Amino acid sequence: MSQQGYVATPPYSQSQPGIGLSPPHYGHYGDPSHAGSPPGMMKPAGPLGAAAPGGMSPQVPSPPGPHQFGQNGAHPQGHPPQRFPGPPPVNSAAPSYAPYSPSTQSSYPSPASTASVTQLASQLNAMHINSSGMALPGQGLPGPPAPLFQGLPRPPQPSIMQPGSQVLPPPPTALNGPGVSPLPSSTHRQDGLPGPAPLNAQYQPPPIPGQTLGTGYSPQQAASYGPQMAGGQLSYPGGFPGGPAQMAGPPQLQKKLDPDSIPSPIQVIENDRATRGGQVYATNSRGQVPPLVTTDCVIQDQGNASPRYIRCTTYCFPCTSDMAKQAQIPLAAVIKPFATIPSNETPLYLVNHGENGPVRCNRCKAYMCPFMQFIEGGRRYQCGFCNCVNDVPPFYFQHLDHIGRRLDHYEKPELSLGSYEYVATLDYCRKNKPPNPPAFIFMIDVSYSNIKNGLVKLICEELKTVLEKLPKEEQEETSAIRVGFITYNKVLHFFNVKSNLAQPQMMVVTDVGEVFVPLLDGFLVNYQESQSVIHNLLDQIPEMFADSNENETVFAPVIQAGMEALKAADCPGKLFIFHSSLPTAEAPGKLKNRDDKKLINTDKEKVLFQPQTNVYDSLAKDCVAHGCCVTLFLFPSQYVDVASLGLVPQLTGGTLYKYNNFQMHMDSQQFLNDLRNDIEKKIGFDAIMRIRTSTGFRATDFFGGIFMNNTTDVEMAAIDCDKAVTVEFKHDDKLAEDSGALIQCAVLYTTIGGQRRLRIHNLSLNCSSQLADLYKSCETDALINFFAKSAFKAVLHQPLKVIREILVNQTAHMLACYRKNCASPSAASQLILPDSMKVLPVYMNCLLKNCVLLSRPEISTDERAYQRQLVMTMGVADSQLFFYPQLLPIHTLDVKSTALPTAIRCSESRLSEEGIFLLANGLNMFLWLGVSSPPELIQGIFNVPSFAHINTDMTTLPEVGNPYSQTLRMIMSIIQQKRPYSMKLTIVKQREQPEMVFRQFLVEDKGLYGGSSYVDFLCCVHKEICQLLN
Ligand SMILES: [Zn+2]
Repeated sequence: MSQQGYVATPPYSQSQPGIGLSPPHYGHYGDPSHAGSPPGMMKPAGPLGAAAPGGMSPQVPSPPGPHQFGQNGAHPQGHPPQRFPGPPPVNSAAPSYAPYSPSTQSSYPSPASTASVTQLASQLNAMHINSSGMALPGQGLPGPPAPLFQGLPRPPQPSIMQPGSQVLPPPPTALNGPGVSPLPSSTHRQDGLPGPAPLNAQYQPPPIPGQTLGTGYSPQQAASYGPQMAGGQLSYPGGFPGGPAQMAGPPQLQKKLDPDSIPSPIQVIENDRATRGGQVYATNSRGQVPPLVTTDCVIQDQGNASPRYIRCTTYCFPCTSDMAKQAQIPLAAVIKPFATIPSNETPLYLVNHGENGPVRCNRCKAYMCPFMQFIEGGRRYQCGFCNCVNDVPPFYFQHLDHIGRRLDHYEKPELSLGSYEYVATLDYCRKNKPPNPPAFIFMIDVSYSNIKNGLVKLICEELKTVLEKLPKEEQEETSAIRVGFITYNKVLHFFNVKSNLAQPQMMVVTDVGEVFVPLLDGFLVNYQESQSVIHNLLDQIPEMFADSNENETVFAPVIQAGMEALKAADCPGKLFIFHSSLPTAEAPGKLKNRDDKKLINTDKEKVLFQPQTNVYDSLAKDCVAHGCCVTLFLFPSQYVDVASLGLVPQLTGGTLYKYNNFQMHMDSQQFLNDLRNDIEKKIGFDAIMRIRTSTGFRATDFFGGIFMNNTTDVEMAAIDCDKAVTVEFKHDDKLAEDSGALIQCAVLYTTIGGQRRLRIHNLSLNCSSQLADLYKSCETDALINFFAKSAFKAVLHQPLKVIREILVNQTAHMLACYRKNCASPSAASQLILPDSMKVLPVYMNCLLKNCVLLSRPEISTDERAYQRQLVMTMGVADSQLFFYPQLLPIHTLDVKSTALPTAIRCSESRLSEEGIFLLANGLNMFLWLGVSSPPELIQGIFNVPSFAHINTDMTTLPEVGNPYSQTLRMIMSIIQQKRPYSMKLTIVKQREQPEMVFRQFLVEDKGLYGGSSYVDFLCCVHKEICQLLN
């Protein structure tokens, strides 16, 4: 160590590129079976650590909780269907987009050969879909289940297809003639599903057997745009008017399968919006299926956690494990414990029992909740999770009313609400001491390129502003968070910014092999107190290193330094690391360029997703043990090994942001938005999550930004409002229909103000011995979230081909089981989809085509590793948008309206050269301009006279003072809101080269470099189903 004044430039020297890497060692993160303990401090094992006795047999059937649980989620809410008229008003979103560096093709190849189109057409000749508007999935079963939403204009409608049972490539043999459907067809809309089913919908007669619907067009016709495109059939906003007039076509002979006649994600989303949007959704019934994640509604906690916190793959669990195996539907919950709650919903109540602490079951340690049943005049209560009968602590006693409910039922959040918080007592704190408030440490890579391109200056300038907005407790005036600053290249520079200094002081640590913290006093400071010293420092940093020509960087020592600083200060915290290059300097965690495209499509491809050295593994473990969360802003201009660099951010609940080939004028807005958002977002530190379940099942697997030292405690250095943990459940006994399946998620954490708290979410699910009930209660968006995370976890260990096959097989299996056990009798050749899974095939196909599971030449290894990591912590809303992007027609905007235009399906056939379309997937936004876009729109949006004049180099739209511009910018801002990543905008002109990238997001089409079209995939799945049924 050397100690120098702040002006001293550290002695730089060139280091040699690398040697001596540890072999990849991977695979135990997040694996509950991993039993190793991190060195050093452990999380308190007390209150949360006490394990429930596993697999207890139920004693007494647990009586229903204090609430009257409804059955089957029937929850009538007679809402009139709502339309989504036109556009709204607001400001710009200023997103940006990480270039995929598409290769140099200037004219793009046809995505699908004509031959395959023709072949598909002939194969599908006899395929038709009977979108029945009335048949219940459970028909014909003993005790047909009630429709999910009684009284709602949304009857469960299995989609029934009569396909040829062949997939694309094989010759069209053995086409089954369409069986006679016993079910009348309902209104046939443009998007193929029975529409929002207006109350007065007239059912159409079923199509005549042997005929197919609609005139249709090839789903693959897309290779060239233009007249043959969907033309007049485009699904524009208003494309879902309420009448049967929108039939895809009269029943008549048709050559090809009409894409309009296969289930449409847009129609499913719009139907749910029409029936449930804008309504109050009360969580008072057990097993209730919530509105889709794409539907806006007001959630009212009446005893179960809001779906904003917990969503499940199904809200009705099978009673036995045999039944679960039969259906192969994953039983999982996607939990976002710190989800943002809109201002019109009630924030969580805080319960404070003083020194008594929370009331908990003596046996399983579950927290007091609505599932506890009070008995014996209120002196005792029976635990809903383990059935243990507990004494009510004297301080907590209350009399019961005539229905056995405590008199204070509605006065105590923990008795009547699904979600609430407890103030934790000292027992819940490390070393039984109240925690210190967290700290934020900003760590800036000041190597040559970052100084040269102005990035360091940009970061320093921005910090002066964002530090004013450090998060604080609502009742506090200023933030309790302390801040610290480190810069680095191949050595580390710590800064003393103590408030009484006239100038900041720099301490250089050159021994990166064993980093230590050279100063304690003055490193972590209160921003308000040290503001002038900090501003002084931020002004000087860019100049301090202006003459440096150091190219090499370290990385692991940077994290180590931050963690050691937090450890020394005895507080949790978050590191904000701004980094650009592969860390090749001699130090722990040094990396080499091992990117190898030759591994693609081999059994060794998984290596590309694994970290290069186990240094980051153990570093992550240490960070979690000390409540050190790492957020990484990456600015790579070439391969930087995201799989290695991103590991610590992922496992510590941090976020990875990546800006490829960062250019100041193009990308700074996106980066600054991300930085601001990340600093300000709601976050809990030093967290342990524990999932408790009622008897008969338990949590077996966990996915997310988590770390596990044993099979039950989910440790998180931090968890913010955007991060979700997906939990899989398995049976270990029978579940009883009357008591249902109860889940309690408890997160012990430290607030930004330094309070130790417990956040509790409770959810009750139904149980049934009828498969039909299970299928009826599924949520496809949550299923896809689960499948994506389990598949993306598996890529570390298994060949991608195997994973893709497993996904296809499981999809087919789930649907075959439904077909066999739940659907009404019909010809074996029919494809019948449960209402709740109508869009499972299209979403599953999107997952299969994602670049993580299917490599594409233009997508870099780092980008794949990046996307893999992002998805692992996504909640349901984010994964839905990520896998099936939102595509909005802009040319039909109603500038007087405040609603978003209705989305259209992600297929080239839905575009038109007269149109302008906006596509967003949560990371990127594209504004696609047809060659014949209306000049007045072009003028309105870009303030240029014609298509040819548009400059596509912009990443924000100009502020043009007219309604088109304002409305479009407002729409973009609405889409951006609530999303964790700032989306980069790319302007794409039809028939120009960047369109190649855009087209990868048209996920219903066949991929340019592989990946089936939706239609092809549906045929493939159907073939699998037929084989399973035989
Ligand atoms: Zn218990």
